[in-house]
Amino acid sequence: MTDRPVRTRIAPSPTGMMHIGTARTALFNYLYARHRGGAFLLRVEDTDRERSTEAAVDVIFEGLKWLGLETDEPAVFQFQRADRHREAVAELLERGQAYRDYMTAEELDAEREAARAAGRVVRSPWRDADPSTWPDRPYAVRLKSPLDGETIVRDAIKGDVTFQNTTLDDLILLRSDGSPTYNLAVVVDDHDMGITHVIRGDDHLNNAARQTIIYQALDWDIPVWAHLPMIHGPDGGKLSKRHGAQALTEFDDMGYLPETMRNYLAKLGWGHGDDEIFSDEQAIAWFDIIDVVSAPARLDWAKLNHLNNHYIRQADPVRLAGLVVKILKSRDVALKQGDETLIARTIPFVRDGAKTTLELADAVLFVLKARPLVLPDKTREQLADGELHGRISRLRAALASVSDWSVPGLEAGLRQFAESEGVGMGKFGPQLRAILSGGAPAPDLAGAMTALGRDESLGRIDDALSLSA
Ligand code: GLU
Repeated sequence: MTDRPVRTRIAPSPTGMMHIGTARTALFNYLYARHRGGAFLLRVEDTDRERSTEAAVDVIFEGLKWLGLETDEPAVFQFQRADRHREAVAELLERGQAYRDYMTAEELDAEREAARAAGRVVRSPWRDADPSTWPDRPYAVRLKSPLDGETIVRDAIKGDVTFQNTTLDDLILLRSDGSPTYNLAVVVDDHDMGITHVIRGDDHLNNAARQTIIYQALDWDIPVWAHLPMIHGPDGGKLSKRHGAQALTEFDDMGYLPETMRNYLAKLGWGHGDDEIFSDEQAIAWFDIIDVVSAPARLDWAKLNHLNNHYIRQADPVRLAGLVVKILKSRDVALKQGDETLIARTIPFVRDGAKTTLELADAVLFVLKARPLVLPDKTREQLADGELHGRISRLRAALASVSDWSVPGLEAGLRQFAESEGVGMGKFGPQLRAILSGGAPAPDLAGAMTALGRDESLGRIDDALSLSA
């Protein structure tokens, strides 16, 4: 079967959020498909009609889109395939691999009780019943699972996992209302979609045993199983709300870039030597399922922040400006025409220290302020003192004569000014910075003035000087 073209899938149930565990599963399926030159598909497991709202389905599409994981074929919707699932059940009945189970709800309850007391799995008395004894009432269809022996799930990550067949009851395939059950639907869909590798969370390992038996009963090729270890929180416990975030959108809201998430999620359970930072192309070239580790991976905020800072420093400032504008608008910061361009121009001067785009948004605020700026009290008091006022007016003149309004040009200008005054930068730098930024966080003086531009910088200094002229 390994010579079939590789086809993988992500098969989320619409729950209204995309857990980062699901996002990582999608990424691994995507990377593996790309690595093998195969196809990556999406199946929406929307059989729970109450939860599968349009909005919940959209969350899946938007999550994959945001993460940049493009699928190769239109999505398959599981609910729409119920007839095909029933057809497969009919085939199993015909092959003698399934049977009609006429147990009533009360009988089933009693059998459950008895099975529990005896320490065995539920068994139906209808398993080998003669058709002439079939009553005229609705029935469920159960799989005729092997009664003894073992079922082995050959897992590419966990190795062979053995299940004793005595521990597996005859799985219901079709409920008495005619609706197909989950494990049956997954097998039929994966088979029909030509899925060669089922890569998913290891909470599905038990299902893999069930599904293996269905494949065998239908005489279909069993896909390669690869069950991924869970993602845990920094404290080693199952990842949950208390760890800060678990939905993909929360990471977006906290200011993490999709390329950061791709790189980071790839490192959760898989890796390439000691490489911390790698491109999508490298991940595709290097990724293989057999290199996924079987121990749970832990979310590490420090590593995530480090990576995000790296990608923020790499990203196109124009793109980052678009993200920052969205953040500022969500904070009701009023923006004027041209501000987005101004932000893009400012980003190269402020991004080195930014761990998230939220921090980047804080870092550009100084440039957006409208003149005259409100200065910190301390700066106002200092300016009321004639000595500083005189120095800042001489500085204003020195800066006005800087012909190369750039970081190196302004740095040289500031240095020369300090020399001509016979003082260190400490005697005017902090005050100039407060004048330029109104006390908001701002980069180095030369960077701040380059971002602001000549007119705005000199104008802000003039405003400050006129306060106490
Ligand atoms: N729908 C299942 C889930 O969301 C995934 C099933 C599978 O990957 O086989 O957990």
